[in-house]
Amino acid sequence: MASPATSSERDSLLLLHAPTGKDAQLLQTIFQRAGLESQICRNSEELCAHVDRGAGAVLVAEEALDPPAIQALAAVLKKQGAWSDLPLVVLTIGGEPTEASRQRLLQLEPLGDLTLLERPLRSDTIVSAARTALRARARQYEVRRRDAELQLVTDNVPVLICYLDREQVFRRVNQTFFKWFGLRPDQVVGGTIQSIIGEPHSTHVQPYIVRALNGEQVTFESQILDRHRELRDVSVSYAPDLSPEGAVRGLVALVQDITERKTSERALSASEEQFRTLADTIPNLAWMANADGFVFWHNRRWFDYTGTTQEEVQGWGWQSVHDPAQLRAVLERWKESIATGNPFEMVHGLRRWDGEFRLFLTRVAPVRDHTGTVVRWFGSSTDIDEQKQIEDALRRANSELEEFAYVASHDLQEPLRMVHIYTQMLLRRLEPTLDDKLQEYAGYIRSGVKRMEGLIHDLLTYSRVTHAEDEQNPGAANLEIVLRQAISAVETRIRENHVEISAGRLPVVTGNEGQLAHVFQNLLSNAIKYRKREETPVIRIAAEKADNEWVISVRDNGIGFDPGQAERIFGLFKRLHRDHEYPGTGVGLAICKHIVERYRGRIWAESQPGVGSTFYVSLPAASK
Ligand code: ADP
Repeated sequence: MASPATSSERDSLLLLHAPTGKDAQLLQTIFQRAGLESQICRNSEELCAHVDRGAGAVLVAEEALDPPAIQALAAVLKKQGAWSDLPLVVLTIGGEPTEASRQRLLQLEPLGDLTLLERPLRSDTIVSAARTALRARARQYEVRRRDAELQLVTDNVPVLICYLDREQVFRRVNQTFFKWFGLRPDQVVGGTIQSIIGEPHSTHVQPYIVRALNGEQVTFESQILDRHRELRDVSVSYAPDLSPEGAVRGLVALVQDITERKTSERALSASEEQFRTLADTIPNLAWMANADGFVFWHNRRWFDYTGTTQEEVQGWGWQSVHDPAQLRAVLERWKESIATGNPFEMVHGLRRWDGEFRLFLTRVAPVRDHTGTVVRWFGSSTDIDEQKQIEDALRRANSELEEFAYVASHDLQEPLRMVHIYTQMLLRRLEPTLDDKLQEYAGYIRSGVKRMEGLIHDLLTYSRVTHAEDEQNPGAANLEIVLRQAISAVETRIRENHVEISAGRLPVVTGNEGQLAHVFQNLLSNAIKYRKREETPVIRIAAEKADNEWVISVRDNGIGFDPGQAERIFGLFKRLHRDHEYPGTGVGLAICKHIVERYRGRIWAESQPGVGSTFYVSLPAASK
C-alpha cells in the first residue's frame, strides 16, 4: 500500500509495527473495516522514518521494542516540536509480565503519550484505543496550527514581542528580534535575559522585570543599541502573565521603536529654544498662549517693560498692566478670537514699570496644527506711542494748513479783485502814453495778477474740497453721467484742439457725481494741456472691474513725464512743466486725490515721456 502523500492525511495515519507480519496484517484489516488508515512498518528503522515524516499514532507489539529500537524511537520523538506528544499504543504480552518486559516498559514511559493494551485483544477494544489516540493527536496538531498563527501575527507587527518565564528565560520571541539584533528566535529562546541582551542593559531593566514578575503592569522609555550599533529610542511595556489563580507565570514584553518621535520631539524643543532666544532679542513685547487663551510665556522685553514677574502675569494675570478704561473691550475681543480662531488686532494702553501708560498695537495670530486646529496663540505688542504722537501732530498741522489756505484764499479774493480792477483802469488810462519798456512792464503786471487770481481760485477750490464734511453714506455715482458733465466743462478746448475722445461703458460707483465730475474734468483738461503740439490729442477712457472695485483709466498721447515723479505730482503745488509753456498752479491733481480718497478710492499715474500718460482712478463699486 502506498504511503499517504499529504501532511493532513499523515496526521491521522496509524503506524503499525509487529515482528510477525501476520499480526500487523490482521490489525490493518481491522482498521480498514473501521475506516482508519494504517501503514505497516517492517522494522524499527522504517517506523522511525515514518514517525519523522508525521503520524497520528503508533501501535507496536511489545516484543518489537528491543533496546536499540527504543533508543531510535526516542531520538526521533525528541526532534519533534514542543507541541508534539505522539500517542504510543503498546500491545503487551498477556499474563504476568517478566522482569525483561517490565524493564522495557519502564524505558518507554518518558517517550510520550503511552497506552498499554494486553493481548489477546478484541477488535473493538483496539479500534476504540486507536480512535482515542488519534483524537489526542488531532488536538496536538490544532495546538501547533494555532501556535503557527500566533507566530505569524507576532512576526508581522513592527514591535518586538517576547515572553519571559519566571526564571527570566526567553520562551518566545518574534522576528523583530532578528531585525533589530540579528539574532534568530532559536538563538534566543532558552537563553536568559542576561545572556541575550547583555550588560549594562539587563541590569537597567532588572527592576522593571522584578515589578512585572510581582504582578504589576510596567511601562518605561529607554534606549538600546541595535545590530548596527545605532541607538534606538524605545518604549517598553511589561505585562505579567497571570494564571487563573493569580500566580505570575512570566511576562510579555512589548518593545516599540519610538526613535522617530523622540527625534522630532528633540528637534521641536531645540527649535522652540531658538525661537525663544530670538523672541527675547526683538524690541517688541511677545507672548504665547494655549488654545484656551491661557498665557504661558512672555518674552524678556515684556518683563523689562512692565516690571512684572511671570507669576504675576501668566494665565490671565496680564490684565493688571492694561489700561483699565480699555480692559473690557480687550477681554471681549480676545475671548471672541479664542472662540472663533480669528486673529486679534487692537491698539491699547500698557502700563510701563514706572506707571506711565504707552500705546501699543497688539496682534495675535493663531498657530494651527496640520488638521487646522488652533494649538496655541502667538501675540506681539509694538510700542506705537511715538508714532501715534507724530501722526496726531501731522494731522493737526495739516488741518491748520488747510484752515490757513481757506482763510487766506477766501480773504485774499476781495483785495485781489480790487487790485485787478484798479490796475486794469490805470493801465487803460496810461497805455497811450507808455513807451515800449513801460508797455512790457504793464504786461507783466497783467499776467502776474491773472496768475494770482488763478492760484487763489484753485486754492479756494482745494479748501472747499478738503473742508467738506465726510459723507457717512456716500451715494452711487453713475460715471456715464459724470463723464458727460466733465466733457461739457472742457468742451471749448476739445473743439479748439480737435481732441479725439472715446470711452467704453462706465459703471456706477460709490461717490458723489458732482465731485467725481470735478476729478474727470481735471484729468481731461490736463490731457489736453499736456498734448504734443504736432499730434492730434487722443484720449481713451475705460473701466475694468477688480474684486469689489472699479478701475477707471484715462489715457492720453501727450508729452508724458518722468515716471519717477508719478507720486509727487499729486502733491499740492507740485508741477513738472514750465510755467510759460504750460500755465498751471499744481493744485488740480491734489484736489483729485482728496476727492477720490474720500470715497475710499485711490488715484495713480503711469507715464512715458514723449509717448503719453495714463491716470487710474479706483473706486468701490456701488453697494446695491
Ligand atoms: P497743473 O496742471 O495745474 O500744473 P496738476 O496738479 O493738475 O497741476 O498737475 C501737476 C503736474 O502733473 C503738472 O504740472 C504736470 O507736470 C503733470 N501732469 C498732470 N497731468 C499730466 C498729463 N496728462 N501729461 C503730462 N503731465 C501731466
